[in-house]
Amino acid sequence: MSALPTSYDTIVVGAGPAGVMAAVHAAARGDVALIDSAQLPRDKSCGGMLNEFAQEFLRDFGGVPDDMVLDPAWVNFRYHDWDRRIKKPTELRFANVDRRAFDDWLVSLLPDNVTVISPASLVTFTEEDDGVTVVAKGAGSEQLSWRCANLIGCDGPRSTVRRTLGVGSVSTYVTLQDFCRLEGEIEPYFDCVYMRDIGDSFAYAYVVPKGDVAIVGSVFYPKTKRPHLKQELTLGMLAEKLPLGPSVKREAWIALSVRDRSDVVFGSGRVLLAGEAGGFMSPTSGEGISYALNTGRLAGAAVGGAAPLDALDAYRASAGHVSRNISRKLKWLPFMESQTGKYLAGFVPAPLVSRVTKGL
Ligand SMILES: Cc1cc2nc3c(=O)[nH]c(=O)nc-3n(C[C@H](O)[C@H](O)[C@H](O)COP(=O)(O)OP(=O)(O)OC[C@H]3O[C@@H](n4cnc5c(N)ncnc54)[C@H](O)[C@@H]3O)c2cc1C
Repeated sequence: MSALPTSYDTIVVGAGPAGVMAAVHAAARGDVALIDSAQLPRDKSCGGMLNEFAQEFLRDFGGVPDDMVLDPAWVNFRYHDWDRRIKKPTELRFANVDRRAFDDWLVSLLPDNVTVISPASLVTFTEEDDGVTVVAKGAGSEQLSWRCANLIGCDGPRSTVRRTLGVGSVSTYVTLQDFCRLEGEIEPYFDCVYMRDIGDSFAYAYVVPKGDVAIVGSVFYPKTKRPHLKQELTLGMLAEKLPLGPSVKREAWIALSVRDRSDVVFGSGRVLLAGEAGGFMSPTSGEGISYALNTGRLAGAAVGGAAPLDALDAYRASAGHVSRNISRKLKWLPFMESQTGKYLAGFVPAPLVSRVTKGL
């Protein structure tokens, strides 16, 4: 670590999809350091569902490599009201990937003038007239410090960059994911399951086959109590009708719960925010990979193509449509979460569910 340069043109915090894309594009202006508190390749709890926007985005990089695609390679989104036994398949098609392999592949796309420093956790930063001083902790808790002209925070739902900027935090869902052995075949869908018996803090569950296991995830509203117990209940109910064997792995994580337009923040001064750190995620579907790829690219390109003090304005101008897209989805959220919305969805013809879901 002592041999590292003491300054970079840009420092990007977080090596998820937003951070990698930010680093790829910021590198057009000068040397970049990409730091992550996790040892890479990292593990990120995820359904591994790549929507059509993410697939389209990645065509510029040759498309998603076959060796990270799981069986079945494609799954369609399906709305599933468990208690009323109503299933509404949609035309929304997802590529079914191994998230760890996907993230690792993204890191392999970085150009030579990006230095990856991991594990290194951002502790704090200060912005001065002529740049930003960044302080991090290395693997052995040693203090690391660098200077840069721009800092891009891509450090996810509990962003230290965002907190240090003091621009307001965003609440988070609690998520649990089990990898259950499959003891028979299940239909090739990305099933979004509504159940009424798990309690008010339960938002929805999802089931997706992944080779010889199925991911069974549950999403709980912030401050839920005893989520593990509720996940057991969900698994038990699902196993009554699906050939789910024992869970071989459980992951507990958090996901952004975007509730208001003010949750979306582009940054301040020389500091830009992208991906979940900036509040960029679908508030209605929980899909975040395409938002992270896209806003990471736009933040990186703004830095790569502008002077340090102009980068934030350039980013705001290029990514304004993403913020408007989130605002539009936020209007649907109260209806979608209401009992009435969930009840009525059961009566809507499948092609219409398909059309509406496409916009969410
Ligand atoms: C259970 C679950 C399932 C999901 N399923 C899907 C799905 O199927 N499809 C989909 O599109 N989206 C899904 N999402 C959302 C998606 O995973 C995220 O929106 C996406 O990964 C966000 O990317 P990001 O780059 O903004 O942040 P992240 O991928 O969260 O990356 C942030 C990085 O920052 C690093 N970091 C954090 N703090 C620091 C620090 N202080 N210093 C240095 N590094 C730091 C972390 O280690 C991490 O590597 C899911 C989310 C969850 C929780």
